[in-house]
Amino acid sequence: MIILYLGIITAVFIFEFYLKFINYRFIKTGSSKVQESFQGELSEEEVEKSRKYTSEKNGLDLFSEIVNFVFMIFLILIGFRVIEFISKGFSDNYILNGLLFFALYGLLSYLISLPFTLYSSFNIEERYGFNKKTPKLFLTDTAKSFILTILLGGLLLSGVLYLVYNVENWWIYFILGIVVLQFIIQIIYPKFIMPLFNKFSPIEDQELLDKIKILSEKSGYNVKKVFVMDASKRSKHSNAFITGLGKNKRIVLFDTLLEEMTSDEIVAVFAHEIGHFKKKHFLKNFFISLSFMVCFVLLMYYFIQSSFLYNTFDISEKYTVLVYSVILISSLFSFMNFLLSYLSRKFEFEADKYAVEVSDKRAFIDALKKLGKQNLSVLEPHDLYKKFYYSHPTISEREKEINNNDQIKK
Ligand SMILES: [Zn+2]
Repeated sequence: MIILYLGIITAVFIFEFYLKFINYRFIKTGSSKVQESFQGELSEEEVEKSRKYTSEKNGLDLFSEIVNFVFMIFLILIGFRVIEFISKGFSDNYILNGLLFFALYGLLSYLISLPFTLYSSFNIEERYGFNKKTPKLFLTDTAKSFILTILLGGLLLSGVLYLVYNVENWWIYFILGIVVLQFIIQIIYPKFIMPLFNKFSPIEDQELLDKIKILSEKSGYNVKKVFVMDASKRSKHSNAFITGLGKNKRIVLFDTLLEEMTSDEIVAVFAHEIGHFKKKHFLKNFFISLSFMVCFVLLMYYFIQSSFLYNTFDISEKYTVLVYSVILISSLFSFMNFLLSYLSRKFEFEADKYAVEVSDKRAFIDALKKLGKQNLSVLEPHDLYKKFYYSHPTISEREKEINNNDQIKK
C-alpha cells in the first residue's frame, strides 16, 4: 500500500515537474517568442532581460520542487512518524500534542523553504531591480507572520483537533466552519491583518478621484473605499485588487501602479476590478471552491475513519493521519488545476470585456502592456504549462480578445 500512496504522489510530482521543466526550457533556449502585443516595442536588451529573469525564476522553482519533493518523501517514510512519537509523549492532552505535531511540521517546512525565499528576494529580484525589501523589513514581516500563524493557526487547529477527536460526523461541522471562516476572514483580513503589513492611504490625486467617481456611478457600483497601498516598500511589481465584503469592500491600488500609469489607465484597471464584481466572480469562485472542499473533506473523513493509512504507515494519532490524507488528496486534486486555471482565465476575459465597456479601451490595453513590461512578463509561455498554471491569459491573448469583442459589437 505504501507503493500505491507513494506512486500517486510521485506521478503527480513528475507531471507537474515536467510541465515546469518544458516551460523553463522553452523560455531559456529562446524557443518562446515575444508576445505579439510587445513585438516591435522592445529593444533586444529588454527581451533578453525578460528571458533571463523568467528562466532564473523558473530554474529556482524547479530546484525547490525537487528539494521539497525529497523532503516530503522523507517525512512520509520516516519524519512524520518521528514527529508523532515526540508529540505523543508531550502531554496527556491530544490537542496540545496535535498542536506540537503541526508546529514541528510547520517549522521544518518553513526552514526548508527559507533559503529559496531568501535567494529569490535578495538575489534574483534584487538583481533585476524588483526587490525593495530591506533585511530589517524581511525580519519584521517574518516576526509578524509568525505571531499571526501561532495565534490564528493555533486557534483553528485546536478547533479542528477537537472536532476530529470528539464529534462523530465532524465533516459536517468542518465544512460549516470553513464557510463561516471565509466570511470572517473577508471581514478581518482587510481591516486588521493587511494594515499590519502595509499602510493604506486614501487617493489624493483629485483628478483621478473624480474619474473613479464617474466610473463608479456609471457602473452602478458604489465604491466608497479606494486605497493606495505602499507596496513599493517590498517590491516594484504592481497590481490592484478588491477585498472585503459588503460595506468593508475596498479597492486597493499599489502605489507602484500609480507611479507608472496615467489616470485613464488606472481608471481602466479599476474598471477591470469592478468587472469581477459585476460578473459575480467572487460568488462563483466561492461555490466552486465549496464543492471542491466538500469532496476534499469527505475524503479526509473517509481516511481518518478507515484503517488504511494507520496500518500502512504504522501511525496511531488522528492528527498524523490528517496530514497523510491531506497530502494524498491534494495530489489527487492537483489535476483540477486545468479546470480552475481555465475558469480563472475565463473570468479575466469577462472582467476585461467589462472594463473596456465602461472605460477607455486604448487606456486599458496600454495599462496591460505597461504591467507586462514592468513585470518582465513579455514572453510567450509554453502552451501546456499555461493551461495548467496560468490564472491570467497572456497580455496578447487579452488584447486579441478585446479586439475580437469589439469586432462583434460592430
Ligand atoms: Zn482580474
